[in-house]
Amino acid sequence: MTPPPATQTTLEDAAELFRKARRAVVLTGAGISTPSGIPDFRSEGSGLWSHDEPMEIASLNTFRRNPEKFYNWFRPLANQIFDALPNAAHQALAEFESAGYQNIIITQNIDGLHQKAGSKHVVEMHGTIRTLSCTQCYQQFSAENYLRLFIESGTIPQCGNCNGILKPDVILFGEQLPQSAWQEAQRATRECDLMLVAGSSLEVLPVAGLPIQALDHGAHLIVINNTTTYVNVRADIVITDNVATIIPEIIKRAIHG
Ligand SMILES: [Zn+2]
Repeated sequence: MTPPPATQTTLEDAAELFRKARRAVVLTGAGISTPSGIPDFRSEGSGLWSHDEPMEIASLNTFRRNPEKFYNWFRPLANQIFDALPNAAHQALAEFESAGYQNIIITQNIDGLHQKAGSKHVVEMHGTIRTLSCTQCYQQFSAENYLRLFIESGTIPQCGNCNGILKPDVILFGEQLPQSAWQEAQRATRECDLMLVAGSSLEVLPVAGLPIQALDHGAHLIVINNTTTYVNVRADIVITDNVATIIPEIIKRAIHG
């Protein structure tokens, strides 16, 4: 059965929840970046997985044993991400924050598009492509210069201090989530009175468990995603549609009434 499209009433109701929220949390996944041309690099069918096993190549193990193999896989992805621009959904969320509403974004994406759009309070659960760290001396570098050169020449980024290989600060399979990000995400979840799940099918733990934590603390829940998620049955509002179309409609109503 095809779910009905979002009605004006549904959009108004969602806007009302945003207007009334004292602390809103927006949990974003790959679906908010696909309208910006970024494939979901963790799922099949994105084209990036056609030749290799994703769990194997995007893993810490492969990076340690064979960084060239990792970087060959990473090159087209890095290229797509570097050229990508925030879309209307990223922009609307940044507007909501700059209009004075308290709004924390917890994202599973590594593309930095929320920050490019102007959002200030972003918790990156799977790391970021915007920085690289040395695997030997742990110094951190801005990715801009290193990755541009890498994308153009294919030369694996090396540390300017010790010649160690630089690893993008993205969380690979087999790597722990960053503890500080996870703690911040949990605190924001406990304190929020509204959570919006946007463009995540909630399949990757432990982030997928956050909406339940928010509900257990009495928050309202809105889900906007192309496909159904396991928390839809408990959500106040479910809109099965493109986030880049729907989020601006809600935020516009929330800010301007
Ligand atoms: Zn180094």
